[in-house]
Amino acid sequence: MGIMGGTFDPIHIGHLILAEEAKNYFGLDKIIFIPTGRPPHKHWDNMAEPIKRYEMTLLATTDNPDFIVSSIEIDREGTTYTIDTIKYLIQKYKDTEFYFITGADSIVEISNWKNSKELLSLCKFITAKRAVVSDNKLEKTISEIEKKLGVSIDILPIPYIDISSTNIRNKIKKNESIKYYLPDSVRDYIFKNKLYID
Ligand code: NAP
Repeated sequence: MGIMGGTFDPIHIGHLILAEEAKNYFGLDKIIFIPTGRPPHKHWDNMAEPIKRYEMTLLATTDNPDFIVSSIEIDREGTTYTIDTIKYLIQKYKDTEFYFITGADSIVEISNWKNSKELLSLCKFITAKRAVVSDNKLEKTISEIEKKLGVSIDILPIPYIDISSTNIRNKIKKNESIKYYLPDSVRDYIFKNKLYID
């Protein structure tokens, strides 16, 4: 089973293509999207409310029967760490192999995540190259982690999709079109709820 964790503020086609490509390339049966509650690496005050990011994720994934959305992190009190989520999933879905899907930026930061050594031993990590991280830096980081911890991290061969949630929020602020950056249903939700305008 694939796990697509994200702040999803908002979710966009980069996230969706990443999840779909990982599913097909690694033959995963389902991908579980997990919007973060209060992640340790971002300022919560500046983010859309967890329930709104969860609802946008539901809208974005509803037409794909292999995509599931979980509220486990938005329902959890306090700071949400990936290690707690993985432990919960391992308990819930016994005898299931988990693949955590990320972009390159997360992988170069992963040694700073809570209990990263244990986390990397509990599930496999799949990463996509990103324009924001040089291929050299990504490959060097992966090779260091693999050597140090005896785990393997797979690089998913997908084209660069140079879209980010930050970029979309900035476009909204500037009243620029975000059509095709994300599903129409998510775009409508953002406008209806007046998200990201200030
Ligand atoms: P995000 O910004 O919503 O992005 C979700 C994932 O999609 C990221 O891995 C991101 O890659 C990738 N992505 C975004 N745009 C993409 C594109 N155009 N092409 C390819 N990939 C793209 O979420 P996030 O804030 O990075 O958080 C990701 C996960 O890491 C969450 O589950 C969060 O809880 C977890 N996390 C955990 C800890 C911890 O436990 N201590 C600390 C930090 C993060 P990039 O990584 O390259 O942006």
